[in-house]
Amino acid sequence: MSELMKAIVVERLGPPDVMEIKDIPVPVAGEGEIRIEVEAVGINFADVLAVAGQYLTRTRVPYTPGMEFAGIVESLGEGVDNVKVGQRVACLGGSGSLAKYAVVKAGAVIPVPENFTGAQAAAFPVSYFTAYHGLKTLGRGQEGEWVLVQAAAGALGTASVQLAKALGMRVIAMASTEEKLQLARDLGADVTLLQDDPDRVQKVRDAAGGQGVPLILEVVGGKRFQESLDMAAGQGRIIVIGNASREDAKLRPVELMKRNLTVTGLWLTSLMGDRKATMAATQALTPLVASGKVTPQVGPTYALADSARAFQDILDRKTTGKVVIEPGR
Ligand code: NDP
Repeated sequence: MSELMKAIVVERLGPPDVMEIKDIPVPVAGEGEIRIEVEAVGINFADVLAVAGQYLTRTRVPYTPGMEFAGIVESLGEGVDNVKVGQRVACLGGSGSLAKYAVVKAGAVIPVPENFTGAQAAAFPVSYFTAYHGLKTLGRGQEGEWVLVQAAAGALGTASVQLAKALGMRVIAMASTEEKLQLARDLGADVTLLQDDPDRVQKVRDAAGGQGVPLILEVVGGKRFQESLDMAAGQGRIIVIGNASREDAKLRPVELMKRNLTVTGLWLTSLMGDRKATMAATQALTPLVASGKVTPQVGPTYALADSARAFQDILDRKTTGKVVIEPGR
């Protein structure tokens, strides 16, 4: 009989309480795979959407969520020579990590900087690579240029504020509460604004010198998308990264023409296949991490048994930084 472990299992799609803790067989590392003892799982809005069946890709059930995590390599399948047993690694494109062990392809892991805890390693890859691609690869942000960061106290938001400042940009941060804005200021945001401020469009335009903002990281969607167009400067770049509101947005292409705006979509999963872009992001991020100029913002941490509560807290906008679940707790 195979050995059992505790894991979160989703058998039908829906709100976070469809997630159940169960005993399932410990997975075995096949050829080219490794088994990792999971220390910490970074929870992204994408995980919440996947459990609800609302993500960009179809969620097949039953499954164990958890795509971004860090842990210790526990055993190697045949033909693996790029990692060693006992090494701490992080993984950003896996699944099944809300469990004691996860099995992934050996090529899917990245080494963890020595100065990171397990929780920091699990909080880093998705948010910081996405932030970099939004600010630089696709956003083409320049030193001294203004950038608007929405949901600025969240996982991606804190990464974007920190990274933009480290790259010499000027940041307008929006979030839903004063406490969240304080966190954005602590991370260096130059101007902060409540996202429900009735004069937000004009205030954002004014903050960026009256001309509007040249670069916007758009993660809320719905009616906020139209506002982003209104906040943008002529020739502004709006990088569509998320749709946290889960509302549809309307786009009239002619409106882009009038002020020469560019709207660009960003999905980290597909960009990861671009080796050149991934290499450039890694080269830019590595020294910033080593010098401590960017430090992953670990938010609340939860035990495996509290996974559904962690997911619900993200949906309820109660969290700041990256929510982390620690299966060993
Ligand atoms: P966060 O930790 O930032 O949590 C989501 C935040 O979105 C909330 O804290 C909240 O901040 C804000 N929000 C605004 N409107 C709503 C709403 N109606 N319901 C819930 N939250 C809302 O999550 P992530 O960092 O994981 O993700 C942030 C966004 O970026 C998401 O849209 C996500 O899908 C996207 N993303 C996309 C990636 C990609 O590859 N395209 C990669 C990573 C993230 P506040 O209360 O301040 O408004």
